[in-house]
Amino acid sequence: MTESQCSVPGCGNVRTSRLSTPQKFHVFPSNPVLCREWLEAIENSRFDPKVTTVLMTRIHGLRVCSDHFRHQDYIGGQRNYYAALKRGAVPSLFPWTEPESETVPTTSLSQQQVTVSWL
Ligand SMILES: [Zn+2]
Repeated sequence: MTESQCSVPGCGNVRTSRLSTPQKFHVFPSNPVLCREWLEAIENSRFDPKVTTVLMTRIHGLRVCSDHFRHQDYIGGQRNYYAALKRGAVPSLFPWTEPESETVPTTSLSQQQVTVSWL
């Protein structure tokens, strides 16, 4: 498998090769507590966060793309391909949430563009 898709419902970002997509794809954390937080956050109905032991095997290979992390979730405070997630970071930006937690000032126009790109 050289291809992987973001597991957030409604996202649809697919990693086709290492450098052809602007998003970074994060594998689920090995820490079961944090892993469960990710699962609860992404609200993917395919996975039940309560059944952690089953999940630990089923989620192998699943990824969440960098569109769902805030800049401040990354070491150095910048979201880019080479940035690493801070320990304990949980995805929090989704198609169904408002992008209000971003620290970058947004105009109504740029907010509109963000919404469109998510759809
Ligand atoms: Zn995604």
